[in-house]
Amino acid sequence: MKAHLMKQFPNEIEAIETFFKIMKVSAKKTHYLASMKLIPQWVCLFLLKSGIADLVSPVFRLSGTPATDFINTLTKNKDLQLVFSYFFYGVPPKESSVLINALLIHHYKRGAYYPKGGASEIAFHIIQTIQKYGGNCLVRAPVSQILVNEKGSAYGVKVKKGQEEVEVHAPVVVSNCGVFTTFQKLLTPEIQVKHDIQERLNMMKHGRGSFLIFSGFDGTAEELGLVSTNFWVFKDNDMDKSMEDFFAMSKEEAPDNIPMMFITVPSAKDPEAKIRHPGKSCMTILTMVKYEWFEEWKNTTVRKRGDEYYNYKMRFAKNLFDWAFTVFPKIKDKLVFQDVATPLTNMHYLGAQRGAMYSAEHNVERFYAETVARNRCSTPVKNLYISGQDVFSCGIAGALHGGLLCASTVLDHIVYINLLLLKKKLKRKKARELAQLDKKKL
Ligand SMILES: Cc1cc2nc3c(=O)[nH]c(=O)nc-3n(C[C@H](O)[C@H](O)[C@H](O)COP(=O)(O)OP(=O)(O)OC[C@H]3O[C@@H](n4cnc5c(N)ncnc54)[C@H](O)[C@@H]3O)c2cc1C
Repeated sequence: MKAHLMKQFPNEIEAIETFFKIMKVSAKKTHYLASMKLIPQWVCLFLLKSGIADLVSPVFRLSGTPATDFINTLTKNKDLQLVFSYFFYGVPPKESSVLINALLIHHYKRGAYYPKGGASEIAFHIIQTIQKYGGNCLVRAPVSQILVNEKGSAYGVKVKKGQEEVEVHAPVVVSNCGVFTTFQKLLTPEIQVKHDIQERLNMMKHGRGSFLIFSGFDGTAEELGLVSTNFWVFKDNDMDKSMEDFFAMSKEEAPDNIPMMFITVPSAKDPEAKIRHPGKSCMTILTMVKYEWFEEWKNTTVRKRGDEYYNYKMRFAKNLFDWAFTVFPKIKDKLVFQDVATPLTNMHYLGAQRGAMYSAEHNVERFYAETVARNRCSTPVKNLYISGQDVFSCGIAGALHGGLLCASTVLDHIVYINLLLLKKKLKRKKARELAQLDKKKL
């Protein structure tokens, strides 16, 4: 990626070198920041306020530095600024953390991973592990309340089972449905209003809603010119302005002025797609939108939201799809299926507040080192813990680390150590297997 950028921007070698150094720092040292959640809060605050933390690593300062501020010091080239500053999670670069953006770009530097067989494989395999160790997994079983006793300790959940509600008691309750749902919907009003709960909520804002188009085509990737690469497509190279203008637009203006989109082709990434769906391809297009544009239909039911809603969402969809068609011209006549998701769809299917699929907003304030240290997996309610993407950051990798940090908190044991030992064991096993293979060949 570095060599490629240097070829594209031959006058920006120094800026590229510096940014790649930041990417490396973010990849190698962000765990310093995340581990703030595992050491006593007063120690973290002492280290941060005394400036000792900054002497240890630049990550504590970088995480609270807005991307635009930092990138402006590297280059004035707007195209390169865009490459350095932007990923799709709904926050303009001037309000996002340079460390988190660098981390995301690093994550994609050599290309990302895709689960063989599709995203459902993740749940499929995790469930087997949960069951193997005596746990279980319920579906279509929404939790309506986290049970808290008079002493203020969580002791279970109230879950819907068919038409009735049942109580499931447990010594520990872990919630990964986001801080807003957990604190504002699942705790009783008397607990919600407590100062420390409000303090936790005030650290976060609701994230932007997302808008997705899922399309299916007749034809293979080769026939349709589809590739396994992700595309981030922009109309303008000034993302701060583009996003500010877009999110200031009225409901009427927005569908015709979308400034950016993300295109991904799952079927081209999944080697099993060819076997399960021969001769077919699929594509997902994503952009971020304002929940308010769709809010008037919030009390309607999924798939029965009426013509006005349908026509409105299809205005976004048509513009996005026509734009995608300029990137992949062979797809248009091959479209055989299309479904369009708005923030309301995400609320229905993902339980995402205000349709924010990345849950709480990823603004720079959230990544101030002090906020990172305060937004921990433990909560003001004893025995209630937060996991998932609201712990540190969004995405599968972000949610995974949320889980690891949460497990470490609950068990009072840093499970990353076990993970490192497991990694070493697997590496040794692989080396042995390769050596045996070499021997056989000889
Ligand atoms: C279409 C799409 C594509 C994506 N693509 C990528 C990608 O390519 N790479 C990537 O890294 N990330 C991707 N993401 C983001 C990624 O999926 C999320 O960041 C991640 O799943 C967050 O994990 P989580 O466990 O924190 O929350 P979630 O996965 O959202 O899980 C929260 C769970 O809580 C459940 N829930 C909510 N309320 C209740 C309740 N009251 N009772 C019981 N259960 C409840 C929800 O049903 C949900 O299953 C994508 C997201 C979407 C929607």
